[in-house]
Amino acid sequence: MPPLTARVRAPERSSIRVMYDLAEAHDGDLVRLEVGEPDFDTPEHVVDAAMRAARDGDTHYTPNAGTVACRDAISTVLADRYDLDYGVDELCVTVGGMEALLLAVLATVGPGEELLAPGPTWPNYETQAALADGTFTEVELPAETGYDLDPDLVVDAMSDDTAAVVLTTPNNPTGRVYDPADCQRVVDAARDHDAFVVADEVYLSLCYDRDARAVAEYAGQPDHVLTVGSCSKAYAMTGWRLGWLAGDADVLERVVTVRESTTACPSSVAQAAAEAALTGPQEPFEEMYAAFEERRDLVHDRLAEIPGVTAPRPEGAFYAFLDPGVDDSLALAKHLLREHGVVLAPGSGFGDAGRGHLRLSFANSRARLREGLDRLEAGLSTF
Ligand code: PLP
Repeated sequence: MPPLTARVRAPERSSIRVMYDLAEAHDGDLVRLEVGEPDFDTPEHVVDAAMRAARDGDTHYTPNAGTVACRDAISTVLADRYDLDYGVDELCVTVGGMEALLLAVLATVGPGEELLAPGPTWPNYETQAALADGTFTEVELPAETGYDLDPDLVVDAMSDDTAAVVLTTPNNPTGRVYDPADCQRVVDAARDHDAFVVADEVYLSLCYDRDARAVAEYAGQPDHVLTVGSCSKAYAMTGWRLGWLAGDADVLERVVTVRESTTACPSSVAQAAAEAALTGPQEPFEEMYAAFEERRDLVHDRLAEIPGVTAPRPEGAFYAFLDPGVDDSLALAKHLLREHGVVLAPGSGFGDAGRGHLRLSFANSRARLREGLDRLEAGLSTF
């Protein structure tokens, strides 16, 4: 067989994937706390809107940037909730936040150029940089501050090769919500380096302790900040694959041209569903939000009782990132799965700064979380 390209050979199989495969192959009861998606079903009125759209013949290609109605809905939500002013020409509806990120990386990171992200970091950015033939640099944030964004570290790491910086707030895997003023320092430094900032805000509506502030909003919406959002996490819509990219009209025009040759457009039916989610009744979202917040408290309080474990209080998203005081978090995760029936994601799957940690997703019922945390405590005592 002829050789495959370096760009598809470069990405390694993540330890999160390893745990997922082990869990799928495992026989017996497992408490799955490694999963990065809401355990709720999509709200009924959203499903109804999609079914109606399909029955009404809304089953064709849509404009490459997405339907005007869906972009209007996103535009309205960004304006009402985050005081952002993106018109339909400054928005592209994407196949999940994932495609928005990929398009943003392809648009901003050239061959040999650097994508930079504070770590621990969601691993997909590194893969996307590889797909753009760029490089990826993790700026390790200190565990002692609960992985709060230290703008000095990020600014010091920027160089002439830096083409874009990703800021993920609320953060996966740490649950940290960055201070807007710290983000602003990074935005200013990026401008000085002629680099972009990609604000990954797919968890922005899940902020528990602080107001949700978009990076672009605080920064006054400069043209070098691109914003990624999604219906996946807030509306329990991971399977619908519906997100968006917002930014400068010229950037979006190029992005939309490129996507004509990738996915062409997101699903027409999913766009109808997104419209209903974003502009319809918000009670289902509010109920899920309240459940996540309650579970956050439960998990944080229970982790504090487990000897040898430290874990900063998650401020957003649905992850706790804990330090169980071990070196090899993959070995620990395998032990917890095989011997104690609880599955967590090893921190080593989230870059060098995640080594020795575990990510616990609290997108699970209170009863299962209690059970899982009991199993975690038992498992740690036998490791
Ligand atoms: N960004 C972060 C930090 C994520 O955790 C995820 C999903 O887990 C995404 C983006 C992409 O989400 P989706 O493509 O489902 O919108």
